[in-house]
Amino acid sequence: MDFFQKLGNTLSNTGKDIAKKTKDMSDISRLNHEITKQQEAIAKTYSQIGKFYFENYSELDYPELKELCNSIKEANQKIEGFKSEIIQIKGIINCPNCNAEVSSTAAFCGSCGYKLKDETVDTPNESTDSSKE
Ligand SMILES: [Zn+2]
Repeated sequence: MDFFQKLGNTLSNTGKDIAKKTKDMSDISRLNHEITKQQEAIAKTYSQIGKFYFENYSELDYPELKELCNSIKEANQKIEGFKSEIIQIKGIINCPNCNAEVSSTAAFCGSCGYKLKDETVDTPNESTDSSKE
């Protein structure tokens, strides 16, 4: 009698354990999700702090930070290089005056009229030098 009662108690406890464990698991995954969310928020804030430092204090004499700032500058230069490669492939340049996209073969910006190319290419002027002799 005692044995069966104990067994019954054990079984129902096992059932409760499973239910509890399932609840625990979902609690844990919810908490892990919250942790990830907070970690992402921290990472975002770190990058904001870093950006602020980079934009305002990158010339200060913190050797470790200077190195990191330089790596950002190098990455930015690479990005500019890749961008200009894309521009060459697309045959489009940005107007240095108004930043509008214009064809790389255009002589003037279609948006603001800025002169993109020197026109001296068409005029031959080497004959003036040889005429001296
Ligand atoms: Zn322009």
